[in-house]
Amino acid sequence: MKLIYQCPKCKAALNAKRNIILAASSSSVKENKGLVLLHEELGNYTVATTPSLTVETGDKVNFFCPVCHESIDSREGENLASFIRIDENGEESVIVISRIYGERCTFQVDDKKEVKSYGDSVKKFLNPEWFL
Ligand SMILES: [Zn+2]
Repeated sequence: MKLIYQCPKCKAALNAKRNIILAASSSSVKENKGLVLLHEELGNYTVATTPSLTVETGDKVNFFCPVCHESIDSREGENLASFIRIDENGEESVIVISRIYGERCTFQVDDKKEVKSYGDSVKKFLNPEWFL
């Protein structure tokens, strides 16, 4: 099996060529929207954006599925967004990322509710259980 990242709403695959592709907008400027490419390796914070989206460190980003256009922002925590990861062994987990641009914080929650965390900003979220 191949590693797949999926939209939690329509289940479309979101990754290609080692990138996770998300649609994004930032409310700081009107008509500021485009695509964000995140590295598919957890903990790798290489990010690329399309020219129509300008975000700076600290800006809050709204994330959408590029296929069905549904929001993937977390309802439980307003600064988080999530999507599904299915690894090469078919193991499914939920990936939770920060919506604050430049904040290096990723949680991986498996089907046993075990949480792994990645990134240097992760200490800000002392109790990740609240989003489960
Ligand atoms: Zn979708």
